Amino acid sequence: MNHSYDDTTSALRAAEHVDAARLLRSIDALATIGARGDGGVDRPALSTLEIDARRGLIERAQALGCTVSTDACANLFFRRAGEEDLPPVITGSHIDTQPTGGRLDGAYGVLAGFECLAALADAGVHTRRPLEVAIWTNEEGSRFQPGAMGSSTFVDPARLAGFRSVRDAAGVTFGATLDAHRTAFPSLATRAPGAAHAFIELHIEQGPLLELAGTPLGVVTGIQGVRWHSIRCTGAAAHAGTTPMRVRRDAMTLAVRVRGEIEAFALELGGDAARITFGSWHIEPNSINTIPSTVTLTVDFRHPDPAVLARFDAALAACIAHHGADVHLEPLFEHPPVHFADSAIARVRSACDALGARSQPIVSGAFHDALHLAKQCATAMIFVPSRGGISHNPLEATDDADLVLGTRALAHCLVELCNEAH
Ligand SMILES: [Zn+2]
Repeated sequence: MNHSYDDTTSALRAAEHVDAARLLRSIDALATIGARGDGGVDRPALSTLEIDARRGLIERAQALGCTVSTDACANLFFRRAGEEDLPPVITGSHIDTQPTGGRLDGAYGVLAGFECLAALADAGVHTRRPLEVAIWTNEEGSRFQPGAMGSSTFVDPARLAGFRSVRDAAGVTFGATLDAHRTAFPSLATRAPGAAHAFIELHIEQGPLLELAGTPLGVVTGIQGVRWHSIRCTGAAAHAGTTPMRVRRDAMTLAVRVRGEIEAFALELGGDAARITFGSWHIEPNSINTIPSTVTLTVDFRHPDPAVLARFDAALAACIAHHGADVHLEPLFEHPPVHFADSAIARVRSACDALGARSQPIVSGAFHDALHLAKQCATAMIFVPSRGGISHNPLEATDDADLVLGTRALAHCLVELCNEAH
């Protein structure tokens, strides 16, 4: 075979063969598995529901002539052969949901990947490299913590041993569900970890920026960094009726003051891009007529600029030190900002341009499987708008035209990447 791989018309042809009705039907069909009465979806990671969903997608991929494999973390790979034996281009996302999930988060990226497989077949497009659609296991982290176990294990297989003993709320270990998945699909080949040329994840934005700007496509340049802390403020429990205000040691008064200080410097340091949240509060004794003795609150600070994150760390340390022994800080988790590969970002941008679609650069506010894949290979993401910025909610929605346009951009981008020699 002697194809000319730098023929950009094949990328356009693949994009044109994206079938809007077929894509939207597949989204509707998957949303019936784990459907909630309110229009949302509740499909926990590796539940019998998710296994059913996986079975349907395996059959669909096989009908498209793809080979299907799995790995030690139950990730699934649907592979369309390339003409040369080179590392594949991977797309995909996850099909587990939050308990009050919508029908698009994760599922859209997987089903758009399937639509690309079908569109390439319909268009008769052959690519140099294989194309794989991946379903990454347990991205949401709502059944087993932490999230993104599948994609992080793909990049760093040593993490799996620790994940296997994690239990869900019913006491079932993650390892047991992995074994059950293997039993459910005994004939699947085993895929070795790693080995990828590029990864492109198409996802709903889950925020309001694209909708506010009236832009249908986001060229995602990276994922912002995060700091999680727990802060414990200590006072003294006393009678609410008998204790004069001037002698009180009210842990809530202290906690509210600390919260205000942190919010002020977070916004001052981070500007418009800062995201500061104090989402979880634990009060003792939590009684209407007793002065709080202990208040524990959480801090979630996010920003795309590592220098701002470092200045936040310093300001937080100074704030805590200033309050002395009554305020105690416990760091819970941190992740640096990730900047995607310029080469992959450029492919996404040129795909949008080739389709004549408006796009804008955007930084992801949420974590995605792409966060981990970015350590392995040239990675980028495409966002489509979320109506009202709503996600992790049954009301999650994106206009059909945007879902189709995102899939066309994905198809274009995947074909170009699949034809790269290096
Ligand atoms: Zn997601």
